[in-house]
Amino acid sequence: NRLLISRATAFVHKILQEKIQIGNIVVDATMGNGNDTIFLSQAVGSNGKVYAFDIQQKALDITYKRLLEANCNNVVLIRDSHENMGIYIKEKIDAAVFNLGYLPKGDHKVITKPPSTIGAIKSSLEILKTKGILSIVIYYGHEGGAIEKNSVIDFLETLDNKKYSVLKCSYISKEKNPPIIVFIEKII
Ligand code: SAM
Repeated sequence: NRLLISRATAFVHKILQEKIQIGNIVVDATMGNGNDTIFLSQAVGSNGKVYAFDIQQKALDITYKRLLEANCNNVVLIRDSHENMGIYIKEKIDAAVFNLGYLPKGDHKVITKPPSTIGAIKSSLEILKTKGILSIVIYYGHEGGAIEKNSVIDFLETLDNKKYSVLKCSYISKEKNPPIIVFIEKII
């Protein structure tokens, strides 16, 4: 038996696992240390494809090494801001994963920021297939984090509820700025 809801990413992976199929095309919008990239790579299998973005070369280096070790060869690593994903992705996607904040064990000053985060959420919704899913884990304990959290939530509230189901989960139990988890499912 394993803890399921106690770690935000474990819970997100569980939900994504229900949606993502072998052969799917998916996006990791915030690669970081590659935890979601590896999860997605394994979830879509060798016939699927993962596009993973980060602006820091360090994230690409760490993730590349981990993917090699895990024998994953279905991932395209892209060093660019996620709002530019439309330049690289010419097909429709089944899922996109966002993990906002700074690179764990990296430079805490390099953080996701409201305009590019919202731009990237918009870009991924544009290329998301009907019934596709987006997950966003919002960490906001760092400087600038609360501003980003509020802008992202304000933006999500403007989404057309006939087109999208938007679910926000927040911890009651955790201390000190617990992550907020959002899922967006494209209905039509
Ligand atoms: N999912 C990651 C993992 O498994 O380790 C953690 C992601 S971390 C919370 C956020 C990442 O977003 C950082 O590595 C940061 O460099 C990256 N980032 C910040 N701004 C970005 C942007 N505009 N486009 C793409 N990535 C960005």
